Amino acid sequence: MQTLILVLAAAGLALAATLAVRPLRRAVLTRPIFAAYRKVLPQMSDTERDALEAGSVWWEGELFRGRPDWRKLHAYPQPKLSTEERAFMDGPVVEACRLVDDWQVTHELYDLPHAAWRYIKEQGFLGMIIPKKYGGLEFSAYAHSEVVTRLSTRSSALAVSVMVPNSLGPAELLLHYGTEEQKNHYLPRLAKGIEVPAFALTSPWAGSDAASIPDSGIVCKGIYQGREVLGMRVTWDKRYITLAPVCTLLGLAFRLYDPDGLLGDRKDIGITCALVPYDHPGVDTGRRHFPLNAMFMNGPTRGKEVFMPLDFIIGGPKMAGQGWRMLMECLAAGRSISLPSSNTGMAQMTARAVGGYARVRSQFKMAVGKFEGVEEALTRIGAYTYMMDAVRTMTAGAVDLGEKPSVVSAIAKYHVTERARKVVNDGMDVIGGKGICLGPSNFLGRAYQQVPIGITVEGANILTRSLIIFGQGAIRCHPWLLAEMQAAQDDDPARGLLAFDRALFGHIGFTIRNGFRALRQGLTGSHFVTVNTDVAPEMRRYYQQLTRFSAAFAFLSDISLLVLGGSVKRREKLSARLGDILAQMYLISCTLKRYEAEGRQPADAPLAHWAIWDAMYKAQQAFDGVIANFPNRFIAAFLHRSIFPWGHPYVVPSDEVGHQVARLLIAPSPTRERLTAECYVPLDENEPVGAIELALAATLQAEPIEAKIREAEKAGRFDGNPRANVRDIATVAAECGVITAVEAEIMRRRNHLRDIVVRVDDFPFDYGVATANKPAEPRMAA
Ligand SMILES: Cc1cc2nc3c(=O)[nH]c(=O)nc-3n(C[C@H](O)[C@H](O)[C@H](O)COP(=O)(O)OP(=O)(O)OC[C@H]3O[C@@H](n4cnc5c(N)ncnc54)[C@H](O)[C@@H]3O)c2cc1C
Repeated sequence: MQTLILVLAAAGLALAATLAVRPLRRAVLTRPIFAAYRKVLPQMSDTERDALEAGSVWWEGELFRGRPDWRKLHAYPQPKLSTEERAFMDGPVVEACRLVDDWQVTHELYDLPHAAWRYIKEQGFLGMIIPKKYGGLEFSAYAHSEVVTRLSTRSSALAVSVMVPNSLGPAELLLHYGTEEQKNHYLPRLAKGIEVPAFALTSPWAGSDAASIPDSGIVCKGIYQGREVLGMRVTWDKRYITLAPVCTLLGLAFRLYDPDGLLGDRKDIGITCALVPYDHPGVDTGRRHFPLNAMFMNGPTRGKEVFMPLDFIIGGPKMAGQGWRMLMECLAAGRSISLPSSNTGMAQMTARAVGGYARVRSQFKMAVGKFEGVEEALTRIGAYTYMMDAVRTMTAGAVDLGEKPSVVSAIAKYHVTERARKVVNDGMDVIGGKGICLGPSNFLGRAYQQVPIGITVEGANILTRSLIIFGQGAIRCHPWLLAEMQAAQDDDPARGLLAFDRALFGHIGFTIRNGFRALRQGLTGSHFVTVNTDVAPEMRRYYQQLTRFSAAFAFLSDISLLVLGGSVKRREKLSARLGDILAQMYLISCTLKRYEAEGRQPADAPLAHWAIWDAMYKAQQAFDGVIANFPNRFIAAFLHRSIFPWGHPYVVPSDEVGHQVARLLIAPSPTRERLTAECYVPLDENEPVGAIELALAATLQAEPIEAKIREAEKAGRFDGNPRANVRDIATVAAECGVITAVEAEIMRRRNHLRDIVVRVDDFPFDYGVATANKPAEPRMAA
């Protein structure tokens, strides 16, 4: 026994000495690991590297490293509108909404009305990101997000037609990389809608894997405007391009080749972005796709061996081959705003209108929104909308702080669009047949149809979840991983070894510290975690639990990377679940930030509680998903014991909190106003959402009178009266003197508005459109 202790002590001392003496450590430990690491490190293409390294690391870095500094979160300024931006929201944005009737757009015009197109161009909607010196509005990212959110509560075609020119495309690329001449020519024209832009990257053969587009350009000489110039002969076949059918300026991505060495000695120059006028000879645009009845312009564009001068390249010839890097660098800003905003708008409209409908519509003599089953759906609608808006706002705020938050924008895009899908689905269930029969009075059917568009564009969701959130997050946010990879790829092995040694031992220390912290906080239920800033007492436990989850996540990530190595890229299910943990922690952070920024509104607390609780539970499930499927069962058991030593801290959110959330949706209140602040609500009974709003007020006014009628009914006052039915009972009650004339008038108005709200549209047998193929006999003979 003594001998064993001596041997172990000697081994321990030898290891300690090796670790303490750096040259020895490098020679004995680091060198073989370095050699093995270099062998297994997957080769990265330039396009992969550009994608991984693009953008900046922001709050998600704190969550990734296991020790979030809550002071930082609350020190980020809460985005606000300037006076000018506020006036724009209250003036031109409201007017643009007024000019558009979504049924007319989606069913009759198949386009926005001319007046709306003219208005959004004249008022500068297409140039919100363009600086004032070029004639643009130069709005903050937050204002841009506010505008898109409100427009989306009215019409997807309106929102998308505004959103796309302000997202990744010609204006954004020109601002960052354009030559002075290009900026001075195009930006003022784009700002005023004289030019309508589109950006064409996707091809039938390369969708998600956009870097492998087959569209190509060959450097050559040709004739342009009567003179021989150096240019390129470009062939492309693109599809799904938003605004292409009406664009006047086509942004085009293709791979440029220089087989004759006219530009230098590189034959494959790489992906290049050019701006091509729509009427340039050979450019083919104008045909349309039909994306799920969303009537924004979208279609293919093609060109065969179209000669164009090198000056068409964004940034001029020196930017040839830089297209992919340009796109990756600019991706985060648009992705932070467009889909998170448009989908939050959709959710706000659903929360407002479905909540109102659920109070107006009654069955079994009760408002449907009061049934527990319906409450469950309303709860998700309300709490998700609160959280989605928090994410939209905080993420747009990051862009205003000068961040290019690549990981955060992927999280926001994925999780806001997925929650929008759930919100709209729940909304459809609550309104029943009203949502199913399309027509001018259906306020939700088009949103239901169009939800998959947001899921698919700007990085399809499955890919974003499986490959990007954790894949890019791990490399970008981890304090040592990128340094290790860069050291391993260093052309100078001696220098690489030194850098690798520092990163490796930094990494080991980081992992061990996080492992111990996760275990300690797990054993103590995170009750002793200090929250280093003043926070609402009712939210304090979430900060503690989130700190614990963050340490556990950092530990789990490191062990996963250690065990899976380069294969983590292929193990998409594990990578997706790791990304889910990071994402849920980001969503919770945004929600906590919102709660503080809005002054800890006690009435809003149920929304925040339910949303955070649900996200905590989902994060816990994601931990379980990783551990349960971990390839090494011994390590899986060890991870489970370290992260959840006493079992799971979270169960599903409480029904009581859910009940409080649902109640907030079915009656007017300052909370409901805050929750749906951007929703366009025209108070007009001919407008579907406006009619619900009016009917909701009338329903609340009528409820005490209705209670009186029910009492009389129970007492048998209307027995035998055939008109004492669900529709006419108020009239009977007035005739019998159960209610006064004034009360009868209130009931009459409620009935009138309720009837508008529950009405669905019907059409002639052929919907008014069939002509030549109209069957002679509408019904088959028996
Ligand atoms: C309405 C609309 C508007 C658009 N506007 C534009 C535009 O203006 N400009 C433009 O250039 N493009 C545009 N697009 C294209 C859009 O960006 C692509 O549709 C998107 O990139 C997905 O490509 P895809 O449809 O070919 O799907 P695919 O790439 O074929 O993907 C199919 C499925 O496989 C998944 N998948 C693919 N690779 C992986 C992976 N490695 N791991 C896990 N899952 C994976 C995807 O998530 C998806 O679920 C638009 C598309 C639509 C529908």
